[in-house]
Amino acid sequence: MTTKSPAEQEFMATAEQALPTYRPEGAPRPKRPTELAWKTASYLFKQKFIHRRKRFPLVTMLEPLEACNLACEGCGRIREYAPVITKTLTLEECLNAVEESGAPIVSIAGGEPTMYKELPALIEELVSRKIFVYCCTNGILLERVMKQIPPSKYLSWVIHLDGMEEQHDIAVVRTGVWKTAMTAAKKALEAGYRVCSNTTLFQGSNVEDLHELFTLVTGMGFEGVMVSSGYDFVDGPTQDMFLSREESIRVFNRVLNDAAIKRIRFYNNPLYLSFLRGERDYQCTAWSNPTYTVQGWREPCYPLADRHTDNVNGLFTDELWTHYGVGVNDKCANCMMHCGFESATIYNAISSPVGVASLVKSLVTKRSGVGAP
Ligand code: SF4
Ligand code: SF4
Repeated sequence: MTTKSPAEQEFMATAEQALPTYRPEGAPRPKRPTELAWKTASYLFKQKFIHRRKRFPLVTMLEPLEACNLACEGCGRIREYAPVITKTLTLEECLNAVEESGAPIVSIAGGEPTMYKELPALIEELVSRKIFVYCCTNGILLERVMKQIPPSKYLSWVIHLDGMEEQHDIAVVRTGVWKTAMTAAKKALEAGYRVCSNTTLFQGSNVEDLHELFTLVTGMGFEGVMVSSGYDFVDGPTQDMFLSREESIRVFNRVLNDAAIKRIRFYNNPLYLSFLRGERDYQCTAWSNPTYTVQGWREPCYPLADRHTDNVNGLFTDELWTHYGVGVNDKCANCMMHCGFESATIYNAISSPVGVASLVKSLVTKRSGVGAP
């Protein structure tokens, strides 16, 4: 039996019971649905071997607003979109973007999506279309929106956590956020929602503290822990916080050591974890995650917008991708984000029909995931 740290014990003792009890007493906790594996694989197979598309989306990144109730140090979005920070997409614009992209998975991000008043209607509609939804949140308003959005196997909350209480509250520049987010996560699990966490690594990320967090959330029943390195947004308030490629590899070798990989339920697929440790090399396939914002589709990718465009197909052209990628564009030099490289592990794995079969197997056995950025 693992011994809980004092911080874990304190958290578990103080988190209150769930509010909306969607999950009948004694019912099993929801798991990653097998349907996700089959749907993803059949979509990939069709796009690649029947429609013979060279580039196509897998996850639509949808940002209905860029405003947030926090101002984290490492956040590019709230700074990049400052001139249009009050703008929001209509429900119709959101659904049109999802339709136009056609990907089977939608990641709702921002900004803080729980501040978007149409979020319940948006999720309800996507779920009714059997689209898998990952809704990324800092957790502050999660309890409130849960009252309006029932659990579904098509929906997973993805809670942004950068460490245990002290470290996280420093990263998000507000005291009390960790406790609020973790309490909401516990209630979400009790109520029957699927829940993941998402952690971005920066300079000074405390590896021991992250291991403590990841062990805690794995023990609580989170479906998985997503990790990624931060992208060096030019709009970031300080460039010193971002990791170079070499620094990312060094820190991920410590975060993803063999003991941690055995103990912690990581959501990212093992090939991407191996890439983060510097054991494999891939070229970016960020066209797999087209990102729709209040200004249109980001071109070329989720972390970098040299411009915005109205036509999603403009993101899949040879012409565009002669200008981007590691070794091609200086802005890509330090990027190891999972929207660009976790997708690359998947697209690489499906270069043949046998590869698709192996991918299904790995998704079904829960050793591989696709999800938020
Ligand atoms: S919670 Fe997310 S969107 Fe909000 S400021 Fe922090 S990183 Fe940016
Ligand atoms: S490497 Fe890919 S995901 Fe990263 S900034 Fe460049 S184009 Fe975007």
